[in-house]
Amino acid sequence: MNKVFLKDFVEFSREIYGKDYIPLHRPIFEGNEKLYLNECIDSNFVSSVGKKVTEFEKNIAKYTGTKYAVATVNGTAALQVAIELSGVSAGDEVITQPLTFIATCNAISYAGATPNFVDVDRKTMGMSPTSLNKFLTKNCKIIKNKTINKVTGKIISACIPMHTFGIPCRIKEIKEICKEWGIPLIEDAAESLGSFVGNNHTGTFGEMATLSFNGNKLITTGGGGMIITNNKKLASKAKYITTTAKVPHEYKFIHDEVGYNFRLPNLNASLGCAQLERINDFLIEKEKVAKKWSSFFYQYNIKLVSTPSNNKQNHWLNTIILDSKKERDSFLKYTNKNGVMTRPVWELMPDLIMYKDCQNDGINNAKWLRDRVINIPSSVPNGTLTNIT
Ligand SMILES: *Cc1c(COP(=O)(O)O)cnc(C)c1O
Repeated sequence: MNKVFLKDFVEFSREIYGKDYIPLHRPIFEGNEKLYLNECIDSNFVSSVGKKVTEFEKNIAKYTGTKYAVATVNGTAALQVAIELSGVSAGDEVITQPLTFIATCNAISYAGATPNFVDVDRKTMGMSPTSLNKFLTKNCKIIKNKTINKVTGKIISACIPMHTFGIPCRIKEIKEICKEWGIPLIEDAAESLGSFVGNNHTGTFGEMATLSFNGNKLITTGGGGMIITNNKKLASKAKYITTTAKVPHEYKFIHDEVGYNFRLPNLNASLGCAQLERINDFLIEKEKVAKKWSSFFYQYNIKLVSTPSNNKQNHWLNTIILDSKKERDSFLKYTNKNGVMTRPVWELMPDLIMYKDCQNDGINNAKWLRDRVINIPSSVPNGTLTNIT
């Protein structure tokens, strides 16, 4: 690979981010984080009961434009509960994409289900509605209102697309197909807080969606997650089973099913409330960085992966696609050796030992992307945020 290009890339990274080691994505705590954390500690309510958890839920619901939000200890737990509540039973199958973080598949496995992998689009890196439609038409039939996989004889009881690196997938078309087949749609929106399809936030198309507030995400609670939904029943059920399924009573401890201790602690929610106050500032600064990257790469005829202009992407992790695996590998090697963190995409799920026998549709685009995709530094640069307004 062209040595001048590699050297220029490292130099340009330093222009944006300075001379120290440059991570892919770092959290920013320049708002009310410490204030709210101190208030939380002083209140003694540091655990899963407390004002900030409810406030954080309300604010996330407002920001995403959903009616309800239920906070959880992390994004994986949110997915696990959403999958369970959507009606997935042990022995069922759940359709998802091969190009995703392991959490999506782990959550499917916790429900005792197995994933089927349908291919992604090259442009969005998220589930392809064309592939989904082909997979269902070729392999499935509807019997007594259930979608049955003729190959395995199992019920397909949910579909989980993911908005990869904050770029919205073609969720409207996916929604139509799921509706036609009667398959509940859950969006893994862990990476797409702040990304919109038209005027609608990602995660508002399915029955439920899940968010993550891990330390490397757009906003963080340390660890944390959220289920968002417009369905009141699902929301109250989610709250119930994530808080040990305790029957409300003045003093008695009665639980009427096996629940989880999955509620987000008030401490973490305090951090989240402060982070969410700054989300628009983060998004503005990240977009500026993306524009800089875009003009840099333009000179080399490389494009940043982007969404059509009627959508909005959060630029959580900026992504480039190089010409070959060989080019990708020399890029990774050079940049990481020179103090600029860059990363390939995850190993494809069907290539992992746990999922090697799961059905897939050939996943050609996912394989193509796997060899070429690189994430480049995408944090809000130091010192660019203005004071709280
Ligand atoms: C981050 C992430 C999750 C959730 O991860 P947690 O670390 O459990 O919060 C789920 N799916 C995807 C695609 C993610 O990137």
